[in-house]
Amino acid sequence: MASTATRPTLRFSLKPSTDSCVSRTDTSYLFLRCRNHTVRHPLLSSGLVGTNRIIDPVLKYDRTRSTVSATASPAETMEQSAVKTNSKVSTIVDVHLGDRSYSIYIGAGLFDEPDLLQMHVHGKRVLVVTNTIIAPLYLDKVINALTYGNSNISVDSVILPDGEKYKDMETLMKIFDKAIESRLDRRCTFVALGGGVIGDMCGFAAAAFLRGVNFIQIPTTLMAQVDSSVGGKTGINHRLGKNLIGAFYQPQCVLIDTDTLNTLPDRELASGLAEVVKYGLIRDAEFFEWQEKNMKALLARDPSALAYAIKRSCENKAEVVSLDEKESGLRATLNLGHTFGHAIETGFGYGQWLHGEAVAAGTVMAVDMSYRLGWIDESIVKRACNILQQAKLPTAPPEVMTMEMFKSYMAVDKKVADGLLRLILLKGSLGNCVFTGDYDRKALDETLHAFCKS
Ligand code: NAD
Repeated sequence: MASTATRPTLRFSLKPSTDSCVSRTDTSYLFLRCRNHTVRHPLLSSGLVGTNRIIDPVLKYDRTRSTVSATASPAETMEQSAVKTNSKVSTIVDVHLGDRSYSIYIGAGLFDEPDLLQMHVHGKRVLVVTNTIIAPLYLDKVINALTYGNSNISVDSVILPDGEKYKDMETLMKIFDKAIESRLDRRCTFVALGGGVIGDMCGFAAAAFLRGVNFIQIPTTLMAQVDSSVGGKTGINHRLGKNLIGAFYQPQCVLIDTDTLNTLPDRELASGLAEVVKYGLIRDAEFFEWQEKNMKALLARDPSALAYAIKRSCENKAEVVSLDEKESGLRATLNLGHTFGHAIETGFGYGQWLHGEAVAAGTVMAVDMSYRLGWIDESIVKRACNILQQAKLPTAPPEVMTMEMFKSYMAVDKKVADGLLRLILLKGSLGNCVFTGDYDRKALDETLHAFCKS
């Protein structure tokens, strides 16, 4: 657990307007990055010595950084990150949200990089939220990463029951119970270690505890690495509808150690692929074509194929979220197939089908409806079905789902506005979609009729 090993003190100076290269006594380098003229180094806790200072923003980017230039928020923001060039981080994707901006670190073996995690911890107290499946696999590693060389940090953990059916108020309370019993204060950090269920619940708890504490995402499923850990949607289910209670709350960083996928069951891996396919269909035709060629490699867990799929998915999500954080329009397009899919999850019973399985069937239904409206040609319908089948995902809802069930659960979807159900539908060539309530209701009925026995 906590180690008292000391690391060398680092001294640095920044040369205004010319250089951001910071030399360390042990000859490796750090690159600091800033916008809007203000830099504050975040590394005191990990051994960097320095003071806050104002400098000109002429800074080098790390070669691993994948910059997503969606919005350049005019807000006076302070952003910083520092990554060693010899780091195991292979890619960094930035989510640009003004003073809520953060980085997504992607790479294999990142749990062995304590600095990366520690530089995003606020205060001395950390609460790791995880579940009964993930705790025996990764909790010790993460506690070690949080405390290595830093005996000031103390870590508590709360281990929740596993599964979508526990994404509820009662289980959420266990996080608050632990935080209050442990006397955590506003300077603490919550860490979500797990899949989308843990990430959504821990994020919501972080948003609500003492009206908001620092929060880090460590996603361990493909679903969470390509989608749920990015963008700040947090929440829990209600028995009448999925994800109906929650908050937008951005993490301090997202740390994706792709090694965690080694222990993920095949069915869960496939579930995550549903969201990967989604990005291709709604906005990235080139990525979709890449997936058509590489689906076998993804299913075989080829590390470079998975790393690329995660990177490209995060880039897509980061760009959309940067442009529309609170889902006033564009961000809703990330929900292709989800309105149908959420109805399946609620109607069939939470956890019966995995989220990605329900989304895959829902995607086929949304694509079918788009075709009935005359908005896409048949080849897209075929390609969407084929790739989801290849990914070993369902392409039709479970038989228990009736038209009535779909209608009643879809009526409480978050995208209903003034009683009008708005849907994400494909329109035009591959990689284009619309978010609209302006469609012929007959097409929706025909789609439901085609996919439901009654
Ligand atoms: P999950 O969190 O239930 O994880 C799937 C299963 O894998 C669980 O049993 C979990 O314990 C296990 N697991 C996790 N990591 C593992 C690992 N490395 N090795 C072995 N087992 C592991 O499900 P999920 O698919 O990750 O996430 C689905 C949830 O995410 C849904 O609740 C969905 O609503 C939510 N979601 C949220 C967003 C968002 O933007 N917030 C986006 C997409 C999905």
